[in-house]
Amino acid sequence: MTRYIDVSDMRHLAASVGTQRLITEMAEYIRADYLRWNEFEKSARVANHVPGGVIELMPASDSTLYGFKYVNGHPKNTRINMLTVMAFGVLAEVETGFPVLFSEFTIMTALRTAATSALVAKALARPDSRTMALIGNGAQSEFQILAFRAMLGIEEVRLFDVDPAATDKLMRNLADVPGLKLVRAASAAEAVRGADIVSTVTADKTNATILTPDMIEPGMHVNAVGGDCPGKTELHADVLIGARVVVEFEPQTRIEGDIQQLPPEFPVIELWRVLSGEVAGRTSASEVTVFDSVGFALEDFSALRYLRDAANQYGIGRDIDLIPAPENPKDLYQFVAAPLDAPALASAPAQAAARAA
Ligand code: NAD
Repeated sequence: MTRYIDVSDMRHLAASVGTQRLITEMAEYIRADYLRWNEFEKSARVANHVPGGVIELMPASDSTLYGFKYVNGHPKNTRINMLTVMAFGVLAEVETGFPVLFSEFTIMTALRTAATSALVAKALARPDSRTMALIGNGAQSEFQILAFRAMLGIEEVRLFDVDPAATDKLMRNLADVPGLKLVRAASAAEAVRGADIVSTVTADKTNATILTPDMIEPGMHVNAVGGDCPGKTELHADVLIGARVVVEFEPQTRIEGDIQQLPPEFPVIELWRVLSGEVAGRTSASEVTVFDSVGFALEDFSALRYLRDAANQYGIGRDIDLIPAPENPKDLYQFVAAPLDAPALASAPAQAAARAA
């Protein structure tokens, strides 16, 4: 049987575990998978570019599990009251190809992106970082803040969005988070001034310059999340040129990340090398570090693994009859040949029960 997790199940899971704990636990799954980088079959995601957006498939597998995510990115969607980013994910057994989990992944994407951002910042930001600027206060924004609060102890976040209503919403949603001070800024430059960490999480299908070199101070860590598609960037090229730049999977980031603006020989470091300790994260307190995040399939694989385990632990979701399980596996035709008023054909649960008996 395939375990199905819908949006309401995700709400139950978040309520059972707590969002900050969930992000922290998921980050450990992501770290564990990055540490076994060479065990994975990896590829840049398959992106279909459509007017005003992109639709992508993101697969990754190891010797036992295969995961993929369907995800879109349509910045114009919020104007028609739809999410910019929507997703679902599947986890399957490698041995048989059977899909064991089919899940909502829009909320999960926000959780895993935030978990990855904070995991990377732990390796790259100065350990005494306490203030963050957050440019772009849309759907991903609260998740980012909670991850940095839980995993790095960020105490103050300075907020800016071209849409003041987005900042209002964020301030309302996180008003009661203990130990967190939220400060509204009048511009991106005002938000960034004096911040230890700068997160850019904007959505616009253009080569934007949310951060320019004059805004960057020694020792800052930049968590650049919104530049994740050809022709969709957030950083002025000179911000990258002056920094130590870490990426997830270089072949994908060269196409999609902010570094698409730079020649292919521009040096970057793959994240797994930093997490494994093979390469230093930050080399001095004054160095500027950049995580050029685009979102890599391995993080979705880890999130699917986490979800499978959490669903079992908390009894979340329900089993669905997604794949036919005929008694004779060569007789698929029986599912269309039998009249509809005939007794139901053996479903996957009945088959499983029969096999177990
Ligand atoms: P969203 O549309 O809900 O929010 C984006 C916000 O950015 C909006 O409130 C918008 O007003 C604001 N914005 C746009 N241009 C701006 C500017 N110039 N200055 C300040 N604010 C500006 O989108 P979302 O779901 O929060 O996603 C944000 C971005 O993150 C998207 O670009 C998305 O593709 C990207 N994303 C990346 C990853 C990853 O793994 N790297 C994962 C998920 C989403």
